[in-house]
Amino acid sequence: MSTPKLSSKIWNFFTINAEDESKANCDVCNKRLTRGGRNACSYGTSALINHLRSFHHSEYDEYTRSTESHKRKRDDEEDSKRKHSKQGNLDYFIEKMTPFGQNDPRKHAITKSIGEMIAVDMQPFCLVKNIGFTRLMKVLEPRYKLPSAMHFSRTIIPNMYLSVKAIIQERVDKALYVCFTSDAWTSDNNLHAFLSLTAHWIDSNWERQYAFLQLRLLEVSHTGEMLAAELLSIMEEWKVVGDRRGILVRDNGSNMVKAARVAKISDLGC
Ligand SMILES: [Zn+2]
Repeated sequence: MSTPKLSSKIWNFFTINAEDESKANCDVCNKRLTRGGRNACSYGTSALINHLRSFHHSEYDEYTRSTESHKRKRDDEEDSKRKHSKQGNLDYFIEKMTPFGQNDPRKHAITKSIGEMIAVDMQPFCLVKNIGFTRLMKVLEPRYKLPSAMHFSRTIIPNMYLSVKAIIQERVDKALYVCFTSDAWTSDNNLHAFLSLTAHWIDSNWERQYAFLQLRLLEVSHTGEMLAAELLSIMEEWKVVGDRRGILVRDNGSNMVKAARVAKISDLGC
């Protein structure tokens, strides 16, 4: 027979009858008492308590004292739990309003995410000064103090560039051959000229890969010689030299045609 879980203090004075579990024996006078019915669901302790109250006064006193102290203990525990939860709410509120410490990992994670947002969404650094953005950040995370635009332009984005560059460099290094596409153009206001270089290669899984390596700011009047020097310098910076250097696909501008010839790179117009 499995022993039922007897939580009531009354069981300090009674024992379940070994032959018939619907009965209980009084530990004081050994009288057999019913537990309230034949089925387990109808069992109760009223008859046992009444028996103790009527026949064993000192035991009954002991029983009431133990139940009172038990109840008091439970009340104390609940009271303490309530107090703790109030204190917990207050602690939570204070924690929510206290600015992040210098080395808080969440602070760094948010700054990194904003940096990624500036890079991926091509947002200006002054985004972090925009009224709407600063309000949004205050609602989302009052503990976070937005760094200056300069912190993003001088530290966060350059560091991000270096870490992404290291990953791309590792992939480019593994390529047997690297081909290129390039373009040179002048801005609409004729104030800036640019040269881009993108690398293309086949990886070890025979998958086509490409990565934009660099965009260089040029003098507005750029000759074929100047373009050649820039292209070679980018390729050397990315360690694509000698036989690993494949074909360069370029536009048909005369200075680009000349640049490929001067740089001695196999080329193809498009
Ligand atoms: Zn008894």
